[in-house]
Amino acid sequence: MSSTSADKIISENRRGVEPITVDKILERARKLMAEAVGIDSHIDTIQRVMMGEDMGQRHDSGHVDLPRLREGEMHAPFFALWVPVFFRGAEAVRRTLDLRDAMQSVLDKYKDQIALATTAAEIERIVKAGKISAFLTIEGGHTIDDDLRVLRMYYRLGIRSMTLTHARNTNWADSSSDTPAHNGLTDFGKEVVREMNRLGMIVDLAHVSDKTFYDALAVTSKAVIVSHSSMRAISNVPRNMSDEMVRALAKNGGVIGINFGMGFINPNDADKLKSATDTEAEAPTLTGQALDAYAAENAQELFAQRVSVVATVEDVADHVDHAVKIAGVDHVGIGSDFDGIAATANGLEDVSKMPALIAVLLKRGYAESDLKKILGDNVLRVVREVIGQ
Ligand SMILES: [Zn+2]
Repeated sequence: MSSTSADKIISENRRGVEPITVDKILERARKLMAEAVGIDSHIDTIQRVMMGEDMGQRHDSGHVDLPRLREGEMHAPFFALWVPVFFRGAEAVRRTLDLRDAMQSVLDKYKDQIALATTAAEIERIVKAGKISAFLTIEGGHTIDDDLRVLRMYYRLGIRSMTLTHARNTNWADSSSDTPAHNGLTDFGKEVVREMNRLGMIVDLAHVSDKTFYDALAVTSKAVIVSHSSMRAISNVPRNMSDEMVRALAKNGGVIGINFGMGFINPNDADKLKSATDTEAEAPTLTGQALDAYAAENAQELFAQRVSVVATVEDVADHVDHAVKIAGVDHVGIGSDFDGIAATANGLEDVSKMPALIAVLLKRGYAESDLKKILGDNVLRVVREVIGQ
């Protein structure tokens, strides 16, 4: 690739450093990334497939497709089945199955390029074979409709992680963007965590309230992830993590994936994040196809927004730095939230730009071995511990 806007941002944003050999360092970043597992612990691309997009084609809209994953050297994204909170009860179960079906259509159509991974060993084998590894997760514990049997069926469909909440409380766990109703996790919520431990499903604590976070850490017998959050010390929004939470996560052996979205990264973008969360939580009393149509409209609106963002790739690197400082380099990863956010940091407009972030971190002096941990080895360790292989 020739000189991109990401390259320019790198050179413009370096404060007091002499103009750099951007191309050389990007080349080094790409080479390193080609050898790394390349895990992004949260992308929402499957909802775009539901809306009729062909993931095998390179698009100008959205953030992720197969060609751009290869360009960006990200080989093992976690595909979230994201079910907006206005899907309730049985409708949330139906939506989860519809998203799983959409994922299957991609796996079937592009067998030569992408394959389902349900263990750490499978992720490694698929990436080594030169394909994209698809690890499936669920975003929103409301999708189990308060029924552990539904959770177990999701496991049998190859899903290996779930966030306990999305933008609203479930009947058993408080969300970070709702008024507390349960003082964290209820007894049933604790049962959900134990059942996920037993099955070999990774407990994902992105989106939950602080109390739910600590309750879940007290109950879990396995390492957890916070798949797509950033640092409150830099951008103080409820969806981000305090230093104390990050320390507790490290003690658990878990990993936080740094989110690239507006508001998560730069406090000057925080109000845009809040209005996006509020819109999503509006609740129509629709069912079936009418609800699906509402969801499609809602998503189209979100992504049609032309939000101008202050945050840059350097700001994202600041979050990585801070997380590494607080938790240690063994507990930090990437969780971009691509295709789930209206706008990402400048210089990281889509997954093809990922080498720009790694180039910034290289320039800041990160060892290549540490960058490989951030690019997947850390999360792979959790996958192996939770799933057992
Ligand atoms: Zn999310």
